Amino acid sequence: MPDGDTTRQGRTLRTARALREAGLLRDEAAAARVAERFAISVTDHVAGLIDRTDPADPIARQYIPDAAELITAPHETDDPTADGPFTPIKGVVHRYPDRALLKPLLACPVYCRFCFRREVVGPDGGLLSEAELDAALAWFERTPSVREAILTGGDPLMLSPRRLGAILARLAAVPHIDTLRIHTRVPVADPARIDAALLDALRPGKPVFIAVHANHAREFAAPAIAALGRLVDAGVPLLGQSVLLRGVNDSAQALEDLFRAMLRARISPYYLHALDAAPGTARFAVPDEQGLALLQSLRGRIPGHAIPAFVRERPAGGGKAPIGHA
Ligand SMILES: *Cc1c(COP(=O)(O)O)cnc(C)c1O
Ligand code: SF4
Repeated sequence: MPDGDTTRQGRTLRTARALREAGLLRDEAAAARVAERFAISVTDHVAGLIDRTDPADPIARQYIPDAAELITAPHETDDPTADGPFTPIKGVVHRYPDRALLKPLLACPVYCRFCFRREVVGPDGGLLSEAELDAALAWFERTPSVREAILTGGDPLMLSPRRLGAILARLAAVPHIDTLRIHTRVPVADPARIDAALLDALRPGKPVFIAVHANHAREFAAPAIAALGRLVDAGVPLLGQSVLLRGVNDSAQALEDLFRAMLRARISPYYLHALDAAPGTARFAVPDEQGLALLQSLRGRIPGHAIPAFVRERPAGGGKAPIGHA
């Protein structure tokens, strides 16, 4: 595998050596061992957000591999959201009657060290074949209880605009589907991908909502804010999705800054997720009581519509459960 590859969006660092050469890593040997199990990707844009002089940089912490990932805690599992039993057909997860997930690919612009799907996401993984995609879309067509199709993965905005546009158009043509939703990290991880061709693909004739995953105010750099603005100007409402992460956003000030940054980018904060117990992620864990207290401390301090719901995945695939009342 090449150390870094170049796309029209710029250079992406994909190996321990490439990260070390970019000055983003001290222990290359440990990171190389991590890379044997979990994918690495840091876009040029994200590399530029990292403060190399700060050993606790909250951007680096999200993406730079760490030897601690090699240790799996007893409660950690390789399918923390228990999607397995809710998969009626490859690429689809159907847990709630009225909405279902479509996972057209498992590649992402960056690989988050705390990812709950880290055992399956990766650069060569999970692109549905044409036949599999056709079968998945046919499942949506024949399942009338489904009113919303939610594209996730992986990151659906890694698809070419032509492929993404074709998927959205076919889903939008299904009479019982009212809305489409896309979960993505692209606007903050690789904002140059939000180009005219992609914006065209996002106009299939039914509402498309985009949930943007971001965890720290500094992820809202000028190119990301501009990319998010292009989406809103194209008529796409934006929701914010974050994960509560030790060392990244586990303080009232960090959360306030994050949610205010989302408002400035015209994003409505939607969910703050408690960490799922994926392997090797214990260094990010924040106790639920602490998360609840943090969110409660924001009441009255920031606008009500800037405060997301605090949720976690129920074990055994029970869906999302609210944590306390923030
Ligand atoms: C999170 C999730 C959804 C979407 O849930 P919302 O609460 O509507 O955001 C749908 N299906 C599955 C399987 C999910 O995990
Ligand atoms: S972008 Fe989402 S799916 Fe991809 S690595 Fe990060 S958390 Fe996982």
